[in-house]
Amino acid sequence: LPRRSQTIPKSNPSSSRSPPSRSPTPPPEVERESTPGAGSDESSLSPMERRINKVMETLRGVDAHECEQIKNEILVMDEKVHWDDIAGLTRAKNSLKETVVYPFLRPDLFRGLREPIRGMLLFGPPGTGKTMIAKAVATESNSTFFSISASSLLSKYLGESEKLVKALFYMAKRLAPSIIFIDEIDSLLTARSDNENESSRRIKTELLIQWSALSSATAQDNKDSATDARVLVLAATNLPWAIDEAARRRFSRRLYIPLPEYETRLYHLKKLMSKQQNKLSETDYEVIAGMCEGFSGSDITALAKEAAMEPIRDLGDNLMNAEFSNIRGVMVKDFEKALQTVKKSVSPTSLQQYQDWAAGFGSTG
Ligand code: ADP
Repeated sequence: LPRRSQTIPKSNPSSSRSPPSRSPTPPPEVERESTPGAGSDESSLSPMERRINKVMETLRGVDAHECEQIKNEILVMDEKVHWDDIAGLTRAKNSLKETVVYPFLRPDLFRGLREPIRGMLLFGPPGTGKTMIAKAVATESNSTFFSISASSLLSKYLGESEKLVKALFYMAKRLAPSIIFIDEIDSLLTARSDNENESSRRIKTELLIQWSALSSATAQDNKDSATDARVLVLAATNLPWAIDEAARRRFSRRLYIPLPEYETRLYHLKKLMSKQQNKLSETDYEVIAGMCEGFSGSDITALAKEAAMEPIRDLGDNLMNAEFSNIRGVMVKDFEKALQTVKKSVSPTSLQQYQDWAAGFGSTG
C-alpha cells in the first residue's frame, strides 16, 4: 500500500523518504541561517502550514520530538484524492459522506444524536481502494490527514510508540477536523493474545485510552467539544476477523469495501486508458471488463500497465528511434496477453471469508 509522504520542514535528515516535489518551506539549512527578523518567510506558507507551526510552538504535555516526527512522517499534506478519482464504491462513498464528510463540514448541524462517529473500519480484500477512500474522506472534508500503519507502530516506532500515539491524538485534536488513518489495524488490535507481547499490549492500551478520551472530552468539556468531535479514527484491514471483539465494537461502522463489480471495472479501465493512446471501442472495454472478473482495483491497474507495455515491446530494437506519435495504441489482444502474467490476487475462498464476516459484523452502508 502507498504510505504517507513527507511534508513541511524536515528535521529528520536521516529519513530515507524523498521530499515532496513542492517543498512548502525552506530546507533546514536555510532555516538555520535565518535571522530572527526573517518572519516574513511565514507569508509564503499556506494557512495549514502556519497552523502547524503555531501548534509546534505551543505544545503542551506532549513530547516535542514525537510531534516533530508526526509532522514529518505521519501528517500527509500533498496527496489529495477526490471522490471522482475512486471508481465505483458508491455505497461506501455515500456512507462516508453522511457519517464523516458532512458532519465535519457542518458541525453546527451534526450535534447531539447526530454527532459524528469516532471510529470507522474499512475492511475487504487488498487493493480495493481502502487507502484511497481514506485520503478522499480527508480531502473532501477539508480535514488534516494523519496516516500510519499499525505495523510500523510495532516495528519502526517501537520503543516510542506509546508517546507517539499520545502525540498523534494531541496533534489531531489541535489540527481538527482530523482523520487518523491506521492501516493494517489488525496487527495492533489482534485477538490472538498469546502472540501479544508486552510492548504491543501497551501500545494497544494507549491507543484505546486516547481514542476513548475523544468521546469523554466531548461530554465533559463544552469548550473543546466542537473540535474533539471532529477527530475520526479511520482504520483499514484485510484481516477483519483478526480484530478482537472489544476493539471491534469500538468501530461504530464497519464498512465492507468489496472487489469491483463489472460497472466499476469498466469505469476504472476507461479512466486508466484515458491517459494512454489506445484503439479500444466501447465493446472492447466491455470485453476486458468481463475478462477481469475477480480482479481488485490494484490488479486492474497492474493489468492495464502491463497491457500498455505491449506496443513498446513490439518496437523491439527500434525503440530508441521511435517517435512517440508513431507508437500504436493499446488493443484488446494486449490485455489478453497481459492476463497471462497479471493474475487476480484474491482467491474465491478468501472472498467468501470476507462476505461471511461482512454478513456477521459489517454495516450495510
Ligand atoms: P487498499 O488500501 O484497499 O489495499 P489502495 O487504496 O491502496 O487499496 O489501492 C491500491 C491502488 O489500486 C490505488 O493506488 C489505485 O491505483 C488502485 N485502486 C484500487 N481501488 C480503486 C478504485 N476503486 N478506484 C480507482 N483506483 C483504485
